[in-house]
Amino acid sequence: MTWVMTYDEPVTRVLLAEDDPAIAEPLARALAREGYEVRVQGTGQGAIDGASGVDLVVLDLGLPDIDGLDVARTIRSQGITTPVLVLTARADEVDLVVGLDAGADDYVTKPFRLAELLARVRALLRRTGSEPNDEDELQAQDVRIDVAARRAFQGESELHLTAKEFELLRVLVAAAGTVVARDAIMREVWGADPSGSTKTLDMHVSWLRRKLGDDANAPSYITTVRGMGFRFEDAGQG
Ligand code: CA
Repeated sequence: MTWVMTYDEPVTRVLLAEDDPAIAEPLARALAREGYEVRVQGTGQGAIDGASGVDLVVLDLGLPDIDGLDVARTIRSQGITTPVLVLTARADEVDLVVGLDAGADDYVTKPFRLAELLARVRALLRRTGSEPNDEDELQAQDVRIDVAARRAFQGESELHLTAKEFELLRVLVAAAGTVVARDAIMREVWGADPSGSTKTLDMHVSWLRRKLGDDANAPSYITTVRGMGFRFEDAGQG
């Protein structure tokens, strides 16, 4: 099962690997409305074959031929760096999925809200620079980031951040309003740096909160989502 919807250039290509038409069809339409060119594959092999030619793979774990985790691993083992957003009904496997093990970048659990899934897609594409209207300025609440100049502001005053704090803030603000998984933050900010442990992440969040004047007990900027990650609150958007 494959079909293509093309919208205006420049094209951001999304491969949707999902065998259930009841999910794939409305999701493909929604992605196309966002301006992405969408290809749907109903098999794991199709996902593997198509992953290198697209900007993002949305990968259902429950595919008929190859387990989704193996699909993600195979994609990574072939050196393909295309971001992978996993759809899973298997909440107990979420750690495996986003772990370095399987190589997925983020996940959404089924049943998902369409708005949340689309926000994750946008955030991943923005992080990898594939978002068509890739902004060099990010904003949430009164926090504004000039990505190109690597400067961050809170209202009129500039925030004085270390390189890691800046990256952390950038990742969180780019995905404002949605939870960014701890593993996704670790990969994005610390990459393969072994000195970046999960404790390091908590310390940086706490430093960042202090610089923002945020109260960890009643945060108005960075909310801890237990067992998952962190969300930068975007009060400006409903
Ligand atoms: Ca499925």
